[in-house]
Amino acid sequence: MNTRRLLQRFLRYVKIDTTARMDAKAYPSSPGQLKLGRLLVCELKALGVEDARQDTFGIVLATVPATVAEPAPTIAFCSHMDTSPETTGKGVKPQVIRNYRGGDIVLPAGAPGIPGRQQVIQVSENPELTKAIGHTLITSDGTTLLGADDKAGLAIIMESTAWLMEHREIVHGPIRLCFTCDEEVGRGVEHLNVGQIGALVCYTVDGHGSNEIDVETFSAETAEVTLRGVNIHPSIAKGRMTNALRVAADFLARLPRDRLAPEATDMRDGFIHPLEISGGVGEVKIRLLLRDFETARLESHAQVLRQAADATLLEFPAARIDFDITRTYLNMADGLRCEPRAVSYAEKALTRLGRTAQKTIVRGGTDGSRLTELGLPTPNLSSGAHSIHSPKEWASLEEMTLSVAWLVALAETWVAEK
Ligand SMILES: [Zn+2]
Repeated sequence: MNTRRLLQRFLRYVKIDTTARMDAKAYPSSPGQLKLGRLLVCELKALGVEDARQDTFGIVLATVPATVAEPAPTIAFCSHMDTSPETTGKGVKPQVIRNYRGGDIVLPAGAPGIPGRQQVIQVSENPELTKAIGHTLITSDGTTLLGADDKAGLAIIMESTAWLMEHREIVHGPIRLCFTCDEEVGRGVEHLNVGQIGALVCYTVDGHGSNEIDVETFSAETAEVTLRGVNIHPSIAKGRMTNALRVAADFLARLPRDRLAPEATDMRDGFIHPLEISGGVGEVKIRLLLRDFETARLESHAQVLRQAADATLLEFPAARIDFDITRTYLNMADGLRCEPRAVSYAEKALTRLGRTAQKTIVRGGTDGSRLTELGLPTPNLSSGAHSIHSPKEWASLEEMTLSVAWLVALAETWVAEK
């Protein structure tokens, strides 16, 4: 594998600001995603992938042509071009640490908004660092995220494409490539149908660390709660005003914090996560995320919200609280059962490389959750990324290289096992 070129690709992609915006009307939500997509199309064409194109929504689609004459199953590789809005991705200055010696990593610039205080990637919070000694690590300077989620995935897919285009002796079927926009704001496949991908199975390269296959994701709903008060000038408010801010504070305080909250749960436990609040005396809107591996349990989470609202309304009888709950994505486990080869061939491909796959669950969603729901089984593979969405995000070049080799082996496996 060409590790040097993989690193150069990754550094090139993270420098383009593709931060997704939560409330943007436009699609994609930020122009940088279009810019990165254009670059990827140019690079694909330069590799000889002739049908590479960016559609009107900014999604990049392309086909690595088969090297076998007989029909072989079409597989797809997918990653997303946007980065999380939780930490800015504007002005990313990647730091390359060669031959990491172990220990905490002090990032050179100050923490966002706190001049003088440096961000430290601590081993105590990142036990995987102990397995990365001797690796080449990439971080941001501490003022932005790195964007390995999911530009590590992009770089891995692009480099495996380059490798396959340069080594036409490798036996594989047609491989579709798909680079999506706005995954981080839940709109990754909004303008994509599985027919456009045209594959039997798809693999997102959007996972953690190395050798992991995510075979389950959360099922997800979003609750938009509108709390209306009674607004009147404070000078004459006695006995008449109902302040929606106080209603909202009361409502939020009633939600469980020692259970059913992301801060209090792990493994297979779901949660209710207040994400955003906006508004004033007259009206407040709160957005909450409902998550669980058992889809049916989302209804009981919604019930917790309604009970909290009922209790709040006893305190504020003139207020109104309305709910709008929408489905975001479903746990991919059910859909993956329809095409067991999607996961088993990913495991076999790693076995070919003398490595062992670890099947894991994601406490989140991927583009694959939606694609699987739409009938395209799409497990998620490791991308070498760690501590994503944060200024302390880091990636291991060695783990990224392992994923490049994995994708190449996976393409071979789908022909060898057919
Ligand atoms: Zn991602």
